Amino acid sequence: MDLTEFAEQVGPSGRVSVRGRSTRTVRRVDGVTIDRVVSAPSGIVEYHPDEMTITCGAGTTLGEVRQITADRGQFVALPGSGTVGGALAVGRSGIDRLGVGPVRDTLLQATFVNHCGQLVNVGGPTVKNVSGFDVARLLVGSFGRLGFIAQVILRTRPIPTASSWFVVDADWTRVTELQSALYRPAALLWNGQRLAIRLDGHPDDIAANAARFGLTALDGPPIDADGTLYRWSVAPADVPAVIGSAGQQVWAEVGVGIVHHVMPQPDRRATLNHIEVRLVDEFDPQRRLNPDVVFPQ
Ligand SMILES: Cc1cc2nc3c(=O)[nH]c(=O)nc-3n(C[C@H](O)[C@H](O)[C@H](O)COP(=O)(O)OP(=O)(O)OC[C@H]3O[C@@H](n4cnc5c(N)ncnc54)[C@H](O)[C@@H]3O)c2cc1C
Repeated sequence: MDLTEFAEQVGPSGRVSVRGRSTRTVRRVDGVTIDRVVSAPSGIVEYHPDEMTITCGAGTTLGEVRQITADRGQFVALPGSGTVGGALAVGRSGIDRLGVGPVRDTLLQATFVNHCGQLVNVGGPTVKNVSGFDVARLLVGSFGRLGFIAQVILRTRPIPTASSWFVVDADWTRVTELQSALYRPAALLWNGQRLAIRLDGHPDDIAANAARFGLTALDGPPIDADGTLYRWSVAPADVPAVIGSAGQQVWAEVGVGIVHHVMPQPDRRATLNHIEVRLVDEFDPQRRLNPDVVFPQ
């Protein structure tokens, strides 16, 4: 299926839902009738390892993208399973967000289908080509409520030679010291008493850092970020307050603000909702695109 065919399937009328691999349960509103369900085109269109970009249909699986990029010593910083479009639409970052940046930084350019069934290009293959509003980034985390992503250009990165986890006892003062002293840690997870650290790079550099700061080796991350813990989103500066009374099984991503918690986060939708509603008013005034999806989740 090409991009035009995908746009025609969405068309200018009717309520349409887009699905990737349906790997996760998305919160939906009951009783909303959907006229048709569509899926984005799949397949790698171009891969330029030298320019560190890959172009693919949004329906391409993350597994396929991982395989082709790994053959050239690279990866795309999109976590999870399912499709590229699903991962972008959900916008959920991996535990290495401190090192690789948020999911929106991976998306350089997107072609999406708007509420009129038209193809729209946003963003650019290099950052300097982007002017005006950065709509591509807005699509990340929009759960398909602003437009259906058809094709994307993604940024690739080199796979580090080595990647190791360490742990060290640390209060918040020590955490902030280590955050600035360590060379670009890939992840910093803190539970109020201990700091787990992922260092990526050359094995000699990792070993030198570990020795210099008295770090003890860990087998892996102290939590299963894909497991049963709830995911809170807080301002990075609020981490000490949130962690303070939470107990040692709660770990915060230092410098990011994601807290992997045993309790659900108090509902933030009331404060976020007015922004999302205004965006949907602009992008999809007739509420045609994924109208059954709760946004924000
Ligand atoms: C509740 C929930 C929990 C998750 N938990 C984890 C986790 O623990 N660990 C982890 O790594 N990842 C997690 N994820 C992220 C998940 O890995 C990604 O959502 C996954 O990559 C989605 O791919 P999919 O093809 O299965 O998408 P689907 O499950 O099919 O769709 C997900 C959402 O994206 C929309 N969508 C799909 N394709 C497009 C498109 N082309 N354009 C616009 N919108 C589109 C769908 O309409 C839907 O709203 C979670 C996601 C959700 C929603």
